Amino acid sequence: MHERRFSAVFFLVALTNLSAAAGQSSRDTADAIFLGRFVTLDPTRPRATALAVKGGRILAVGEASSLEAYAGRRTEKIDLPGVTVPGLADAHAHVSGFGEQLATLDLRGLDKEEIVARVKGEAAKTPEGDWIQGGGWDEGHFRPSAFPTAEELDAATTRHPVVLDRIDGHSIWVNSRALAEASVSRATADPPGGKVLRDAAGEPTGILVDHATAFVRRIVPAPTPEKAERRLRAALEAYARSGLTIVHDAGADRETLLLYKKLLAEQALPVRVYAMANGRGELVAETLARGPEIGLGEGRLTIRSFKVVLDGALGSRGAQLFEPYADAPSERGLETMGDEEFLGLIRAATAKGFQVNAHAIGDQAVRRALDAFEAAGPEARRLRFRVEHASVIDPADRPRFAKLGVIASLQPMFAGEYARWSEDRVGPSRASWVLATRSLLDAGASLALGTDYPASDSGDPLLNFFCAVTRRAADGTPPSGFHPEERLSADTALRLLTAGPAFAAFQEEDLGALSPGRYADLTVLSDDPLSLPAEKLPELRVRMTIVGGRVVFRE
Ligand SMILES: [Zn+2]
Repeated sequence: MHERRFSAVFFLVALTNLSAAAGQSSRDTADAIFLGRFVTLDPTRPRATALAVKGGRILAVGEASSLEAYAGRRTEKIDLPGVTVPGLADAHAHVSGFGEQLATLDLRGLDKEEIVARVKGEAAKTPEGDWIQGGGWDEGHFRPSAFPTAEELDAATTRHPVVLDRIDGHSIWVNSRALAEASVSRATADPPGGKVLRDAAGEPTGILVDHATAFVRRIVPAPTPEKAERRLRAALEAYARSGLTIVHDAGADRETLLLYKKLLAEQALPVRVYAMANGRGELVAETLARGPEIGLGEGRLTIRSFKVVLDGALGSRGAQLFEPYADAPSERGLETMGDEEFLGLIRAATAKGFQVNAHAIGDQAVRRALDAFEAAGPEARRLRFRVEHASVIDPADRPRFAKLGVIASLQPMFAGEYARWSEDRVGPSRASWVLATRSLLDAGASLALGTDYPASDSGDPLLNFFCAVTRRAADGTPPSGFHPEERLSADTALRLLTAGPAFAAFQEEDLGALSPGRYADLTVLSDDPLSLPAEKLPELRVRMTIVGGRVVFRE
């Protein structure tokens, strides 16, 4: 089934335009005319029935009869089923992480016993001593809802080291063999910005948080280059199938950036990539020296930003809070990057015209990001600095996004997870500060929506749309929605999944609406997302994905 789908990728709709129709200049002859129902998000023509494309860009939008003038002898006419919207974006995704997720155990939604059984099954077919990897577990699905232990994982295997990422990617659950191979013991000190969870006797329990995950991660063998490329391709093809036409990679390492360039040269990037280079390590100097790389290959690849991580994640109690965690009164989270290093990067990036995008989840980390961006002066607005996640925001800080021109990059997909445990973490009053999509908009902020997948329940952009509109998880829970006062209208949510990310990537002239001159990036849906009642939204399907006028997925 999937092979058949893959074969649709890169199916060339129409690239040639060798001759023009009689009496018409080739300048105005379309390569293709798409016919269907279009939601354009262009206020001058919100709805249309035809769209003419030339050279990967939209030539004209209108009614089928009026676009006949653009048809030449070689113009292809393509009927699009359902309703077509501007190409959907994911403003915060982890592409190589997704590729890894596709190749390792997916533990989403499972309880502890199911996870142990899955690892046991994997152990039975894995050579002794080889690593077993997986991700997606969330103790919110365990009963009781507590962090698991190495001992519990030892029941699956002690003949293999096992490392299982928590869904947020900010902590790992390992077995005793992995702890031993990483030499993590009661004598191991917590690294700065990291934590080894310990029992009453001081022994590591098998959960490592944020920078402490490096103890184990650095001894897990890296995938071979071939494997890494296969995984990245698989992730990008999956994005195309899910209806995405662009992903913002929220933290790419050097190998991944090189792979993007390789795939670009081979014309094998099915969707556009806006890659944020990791803002730490030797990649920084290299990337700065190269300067911003904007719109490579007809806008398929852009590298003009850095991603830094100021704190951990809320689920792992790594998010940096001003006041203690409600369920861990001695903890206020972790600072994974200090202000001095952060300000240094902002200065260096600003001098070279790079955007800076800071992961900040706790209210203290969000304020640190805003303070540092404010210190950068007008550059923060010109370079469209972003706070990634901005999950827990003191209401006093909300207006600062608009004031400073800083973009809030949020993930409605987290509504389900937050409904499961955020109140445990931060208590009832701060829970109303979490994922404040509506309040931020009302405070004048520019928003871009993404999923953070695989650090969330799903990377499906239509589910993300559903979550933004209903504040429920993919499975519909909770029925009333997580803080439903933060719901967005369907129209707003669709804009924040298209035009929002386009602005956050300096691409508002090229993407985000179906208007003449922009790239012909289209997502064809089974129905109209703007008129479907909310409870019907989970039935929406992607029929086709079109990037630069080329069909990259067809159902
Ligand atoms: Zn992320």
